Amino acid sequence: MSALAAGAATAEASAERLGLVGGHIDGTVLVDGEGPPLELVDPSTGRAFAEVARLGPEAVDRAVRLAHERFVAGVWREAPVRRRRDVLRTLADLVRRDQERLAVLESRSAGKPIAAARGEVGAAAAVFDYYAGAVDKFGGATIPTQAAGHLLTFREPIGVCGLVTPWNFPLLILAWKLAPALATGNSVVVKPAEVTPLTSLALAELALEAGLPRGVLAVVPGQGSVAGEALIGHELVRKVSFTGSTAVGVRVMQRAAERIARVSLELGGKSANLVFADADLDACVESSVFAVFDNAGQDCCSRSRILVERSIHDEFVARFSERTAALRIGPTADESTELGPLITAEHRAGVESHLQRALDDGAELVLGGRRPGGDGFYLEPAVLTGVGLDLPILRDEVFGPVVAIVPFDSEEAAIALANDSDYGLSGSLWTRDVGRALRVARAVETGMLSVNSSSSVHVEGPFGGVKRSGIGREQGMVALEHYTELKTVFISRD
Ligand code: NAP
Ligand code: MG
Repeated sequence: MSALAAGAATAEASAERLGLVGGHIDGTVLVDGEGPPLELVDPSTGRAFAEVARLGPEAVDRAVRLAHERFVAGVWREAPVRRRRDVLRTLADLVRRDQERLAVLESRSAGKPIAAARGEVGAAAAVFDYYAGAVDKFGGATIPTQAAGHLLTFREPIGVCGLVTPWNFPLLILAWKLAPALATGNSVVVKPAEVTPLTSLALAELALEAGLPRGVLAVVPGQGSVAGEALIGHELVRKVSFTGSTAVGVRVMQRAAERIARVSLELGGKSANLVFADADLDACVESSVFAVFDNAGQDCCSRSRILVERSIHDEFVARFSERTAALRIGPTADESTELGPLITAEHRAGVESHLQRALDDGAELVLGGRRPGGDGFYLEPAVLTGVGLDLPILRDEVFGPVVAIVPFDSEEAAIALANDSDYGLSGSLWTRDVGRALRVARAVETGMLSVNSSSSVHVEGPFGGVKRSGIGREQGMVALEHYTELKTVFISRD
């Protein structure tokens, strides 16, 4: 039994330390790293709780070559549609079977409240369900043509896909990539974030149990600058799907350009939440607090700019701050905790420096921004007002629990403010006026937007950004297009 399978199955039992966890290549566990093991730290205690093999270029090369070999051999690509569907469906069931174990691993490594981690594991299972159902509903077309013959298109898998994932929603974001990649018959090599590889490794074990042929999926834990670089630059990796910072996204695109590899990028955000005076303020305040502070603000869709019509600005600030002050910050294993710690001590220091810069620039701190004391990388959620429109705090992604609230005077001004950003990932708007809702929703430059809601994620619908928030879409049927090439075949009638 692997160290992961033997790990604590409940939050209560999770104080124990895991043995050395290996990488996952060719269906076997690889514990011999290229350097000392990676040490995983529980962000809620600041204490190390596991070691993971640090794999490097050699392991990546081996994993990619095997994945390529299996792709060429057709062990998965040519498997009957029904088999691919059944493997994905079984994987969904196994993720649900192991929900508690996976949630504990995710909670401990990513510093998530256990209830939130459970929800994410359930959502990941639903992603595998969705793509199991999609396998036999996605294909090419027969196209009417003036030529003397038949014109057909086929949707063919691309080859080896390199998936590079971040630490904020490790299992869920992997599911968004892995499920459509496997549904369409590709081979996959995953490089999870250095600090959160455990659930990705556990998923590789479950995929084998579900019947995925060996070698079709590998998970290579290691550093971004070493294992990640080796993966995105590998000549046999035909597609890279990356979620993470815009800076690394640029690097991925550059490396992919050298060999015209396909890329999908899900990058940063600075999403706006537009609140008009006719909004249902009770619902808006309750939802808006979580829209920015959920996952301690470490969410690419976080609505970190709240734009409020001036006539209700002061009331909104008062009610928003009151609700924020009532958020339950606490141990991640505690069922009632709403807000956990930040991912690392360094990341917290970075968030604090964004906040300090805003204060130095003249912004006013309504509440929060302090360390609550005790162990762990906690930070009280911070609410800023009086923010000058040219300040970095309105432009830079902080990726932590910091929000800026800014007043506006007209619909046009609200749209202009929302669009005054390098990013365009998500957003919300709150109004009871249907005409305005549609006008503003169409005018905001963003990949996703919700009206009278803070949701961004629907497995059935496209997810992704415009401008520097990325390229391509995940989830929904459209994700299948991003893991296939279109082949056109003409058959002469003669
Ligand atoms: P990151 O530093 O860009 O890392 C993301 C992944 O890339 C990690 O696995 C990382 O490995 C790897 N990596 C780093 N340098 C690399 C390189 N030179 N070559 C190949 N891989 C490399 O981002 P993060 O700090 O984990 O995540 C936060 C960012 O992700 C935020 O900007 C957030 O907005 C964005 N994000 C976007 C979405 C979306 O859907 N749009 C969703 C979630 C997060 P290491 O961990 O070893 O460094
Ligand atoms: Mg990083």
